[in-house]
Amino acid sequence: MSLHQTEKQIAQHIQSQQSAMENRLADTVAIPTGHDFSRGLNSMRLVLAERLRCMGAQVVEMSAAQRPAWITPNDHGEVGSPTLVARNLQGRGGPTLLIAGHMDTVHDPAGQFQKLSPLDRRRATGPGAADMKGGLEVALSALEALEKFSPTVRWIFIINADEEAGSFRSSEHLASVAKECDAGFVLEPALPNGGLVVERLGSGQFMIDVLGRAAHSGRDFANGISAVNALAQCVLQVAGLCDLKRNRIVNIGPLQGGAATNIVADHARAWGNIRFANADDGQKFSQEIQAMASGDATHLPRITIEMAVNRPAKPCTQDVLALALLAQVVAKDLGFDLATGSTGGVSDANLIQAAGIPCLDGLGVRGGNLHRGDEFVELDSLSERATLLALLLLRVSSDDTKKISRG
Ligand SMILES: [Zn+2]
Repeated sequence: MSLHQTEKQIAQHIQSQQSAMENRLADTVAIPTGHDFSRGLNSMRLVLAERLRCMGAQVVEMSAAQRPAWITPNDHGEVGSPTLVARNLQGRGGPTLLIAGHMDTVHDPAGQFQKLSPLDRRRATGPGAADMKGGLEVALSALEALEKFSPTVRWIFIINADEEAGSFRSSEHLASVAKECDAGFVLEPALPNGGLVVERLGSGQFMIDVLGRAAHSGRDFANGISAVNALAQCVLQVAGLCDLKRNRIVNIGPLQGGAATNIVADHARAWGNIRFANADDGQKFSQEIQAMASGDATHLPRITIEMAVNRPAKPCTQDVLALALLAQVVAKDLGFDLATGSTGGVSDANLIQAAGIPCLDGLGVRGGNLHRGDEFVELDSLSERATLLALLLLRVSSDDTKKISRG
């Protein structure tokens, strides 16, 4: 199969947009959208909503849900920014395709890393350039080209504002919107070899909270019960559950405990993250950690454990494989090879697939050094990936819909 006339027009149009895409990426990278930075997230949401409305989409905001207070060490009770949902469905047939992205980044909104700067002719560095402002630009340009040349695809684009913090405030919105759709396409950056992500481990968060008894370390040491010592033992036990051969990962940190060096600590806490390969293992893993809880108000130290498995594992199902094969055919027709692979990193693709639809991820830009102060994007991947996404959506939309049956 090669490109038909409409596909050629779309590909040529997107190619002609390359420098415009670079300019728009520079604009959005310059909007700081770090964790819970509502001023930046609000500006970003307005820019995105305006562009989506220009495509004729119905745009709504879904307000942020509450996040469990224990999830982060410094929860200041922020309300959280809304999720943006744009629908273009009217008068169109075929499957409903869900495109998903996030507007938040991991970068400090007050830090030094603030704008997109060229590294060389092919690459530029900037906060969120690859993860995932580049991916958002890819999706928007792909949809604009589809609307211009073939406004037939039924699509919903969901963009949340807390993906990097675990999507606790948007997971219900992602699940409910996924239930309206037949297949999901997520704009996380490509794998290092440019490949798509078909499989992801699951992920959960936990907190170990230890209560002890305070005492003066010199005058009354024997009467104290150190929460820090009990926490240290518990941390080592939990860390011992790590088993890389079985794709069981546990990472612990940050830690808090004690008020001064001459007081036996009466309170200590540790936060951590687990990764696991499937639902069964996720459940067993969290039960093993929760079994470390002990003591009560009269038997100190008291260890309590909070746990939230917020992202189920995302297996590579037959339906995911079918989508990946279609993407590989599109890539071949465009003249390049497209690999597929799995990763221990999690994304909203985990939540979307858990809601019952096959989901393909890693459709965003090629880039590297994600989550670091030297994150970069490979600029030519902007138009390359936008073309890939546009043609993939077009073909999935007009393809035999049985291929992407629900479940
Ligand atoms: Zn991301």
